[in-house]
Amino acid sequence: MPKRIAIIAHDGKKAELVEWARRERERLARHHLVATATTGRTLQEALGLEVACVRSGPQGGDAQIAAMVVEGRIDAVIFLVDPLYAHPHEPDIRTVMRL
Ligand code: PGA
Repeated sequence: MPKRIAIIAHDGKKAELVEWARRERERLARHHLVATATTGRTLQEALGLEVACVRSGPQGGDAQIAAMVVEGRIDAVIFLVDPLYAHPHEPDIRTVMRL
């Protein structure tokens, strides 16, 4: 049964995301994927996965995904956080983590 999976990866973690997603490609392709803009584009370009994109994280994409979680439109969130970099949208990141 396909799940709705949201994926977010900070810039410092995108290479790691692609490496992981390459290993899990077949499994990921069975689900409905949604991602923040750059993360989604990275997955589309690197692996040809079908990904619905919301805004980029700093432009409200994390908040969009948080709202989808609240509305019960997302079953799981995969979030690769880069703890070594200060993010302008830190409050949105914390919201996603809390929810
Ligand atoms: P991005 O956003 O996928 O557009 O890079 C992720 C984030 O910074 O939260």
